[in-house]
Amino acid sequence: MQHIGTEVTMAGWVQTVRKFGSITFTDLRDRYGITQLYFNEQLNPTLDRQPIGREFVIQAKGKVVERASKNGKIPTGDIEVEVTEFTILNSAATPPFTIEEDTDGGDELRMKYRYLDLRRPTLRRNLELRYRVNRSVRNYLDTQGFWDIETPFLIRSTPEGARDFVVPSRMNEGQFYALPQSPQTFKQLLMVSGYDRYYQIVKCFRDEDLRADRQPEFSQVDCEMSFVEQEDILNTFEGLFKHVFNDVKGVEITEAFPRMTWDDSMWFYGNDKPDIRFGMTIGNIKTPVAADRTDATDTTSLWQGEFPVFNNAETILAIAAPGCSEYTRKQLDELTEWVKRPQIGMSGLVYIKCNTDGTFKSSVDKFFTEDKLKAVATFCNAKAGDLILLLAGNETRTRKAMSELRLEMGNRLGFRNPDVYKPLWVIDFPLFEYDEDGNRWVARHHPFTSPKPEHIEWMNDLSKYGAIKANAYDIVLNGTEIGGGSIRIFHRDLQEKMFAALGMSKEEAQEKFGFLMGAFEYGAPPHGGIAFGFDRLCALLGGQESIRDYIAFPKNNAGRDVMLDAPSDIDDTQKKELGLK
Ligand code: ASP
Repeated sequence: MQHIGTEVTMAGWVQTVRKFGSITFTDLRDRYGITQLYFNEQLNPTLDRQPIGREFVIQAKGKVVERASKNGKIPTGDIEVEVTEFTILNSAATPPFTIEEDTDGGDELRMKYRYLDLRRPTLRRNLELRYRVNRSVRNYLDTQGFWDIETPFLIRSTPEGARDFVVPSRMNEGQFYALPQSPQTFKQLLMVSGYDRYYQIVKCFRDEDLRADRQPEFSQVDCEMSFVEQEDILNTFEGLFKHVFNDVKGVEITEAFPRMTWDDSMWFYGNDKPDIRFGMTIGNIKTPVAADRTDATDTTSLWQGEFPVFNNAETILAIAAPGCSEYTRKQLDELTEWVKRPQIGMSGLVYIKCNTDGTFKSSVDKFFTEDKLKAVATFCNAKAGDLILLLAGNETRTRKAMSELRLEMGNRLGFRNPDVYKPLWVIDFPLFEYDEDGNRWVARHHPFTSPKPEHIEWMNDLSKYGAIKANAYDIVLNGTEIGGGSIRIFHRDLQEKMFAALGMSKEEAQEKFGFLMGAFEYGAPPHGGIAFGFDRLCALLGGQESIRDYIAFPKNNAGRDVMLDAPSDIDDTQKKELGLK
């Protein structure tokens, strides 16, 4: 409104043209928003001679005037520009989808014409948010004395558990570079060189199957510090998150982020990225054999009886869904079907209704007395009005299924509000993980992660591998892992031991990682670090699950850039130069 009366020149894209007899209105769009242009009767003949259409680029001169009918939905809705002259800077073909807040274009079409999709305010806001997160991260790290140091893209493989993208070398025929899965070994070498606080917002490349919203190239905030312990890293990066939340979202988190051991996370939430916006933690009714928890009590009396499913199950897990005791037959059947879906893979669901009148009703009434049901309810901290859901079966599958069921119930009950931020650290990860397909132990994080000092000697005993814990940590926000790191090995002998534990021969380790182990012989400081998924962090701060719309030019689920039509074949000359057939 304060601009009323001023003469302005505006340039942008025509979003809409509305002709009423001899007068015309258009909405002009630019990076900053929408402004209504009013073409009066005098301009009518010019408009007839040079008609303007959707997505034309025009420049218009005129005066800002108050609108007769205001639009409360947009910031410029009180005014319009009464055009005195205009120029068409460029015409436009009819766009293949509507360029509006909500478009009618499907994913593939939008990606093919990404430059048009990026004109939509939704995407523009996402990229703005991304820029602001980026700037906020850099500002914070700068105040903490971190330097941004670039590392190369054409390298030799760095193992982060995925396949490498490779690039053939023309000058070294028959040989290949790998694109970094992360700058892991470089940042460690920078520590050896004495650059004790490093960071980079950097592209990483992983040739993985692209299920679940992943991108073959993605960005990380990659950091490393020397002369630190785990505690220093957690504090420094907790500070980073608090800064970014506050700076970008205006959300002030004053209390320390909770810390949960990996063991507890698996035990109470069924996964290693717990969503702690809500409780509904898992009750472990039949203790799995392997768990050496101090709080695991003898619960035999709760499940033992005439019910073969419980007797035969390796584990029985329960959650109490608050206020759901009045679920109907139909709702319970539907929930049972839900756990039977192949993605969840359970063969059935047992329920206990904790009725508000203090009675109990269950799907296993045939086998269990009411007293027993009551005991289970007490064990699960269920209150009158709650619905206890139980899954029984093999430990790994059942725990995973229960973790999914808990999240599903959290969704249904509205406990997973995207505007609530509940970050936490998950610590004490296992050093190794058993790879069932490959029939061998692999590094849970990566092979540069150090075992807890008190567990190093267990590395000589294969039967203890599963119990070895690492100084490794993840930061989790609202059920999503947004970053992870570890304190590193910095002695040659321990690094050699680690490679050997992973089944690598001395020669192979030397061939692949001789440069790093060699560096460790020249005064390597103790060091550790962390990396955050930058795309995911932006999506979460934008309140969305998909990272794709926070990346200017993403790839589709098959890893293709549908706009460039890449990857593609290359011509024979190129192949010849590269020595490829
Ligand atoms: N390089 C690791 C990763 O990409 C992070 C780290 O350990 O700093 O997950």
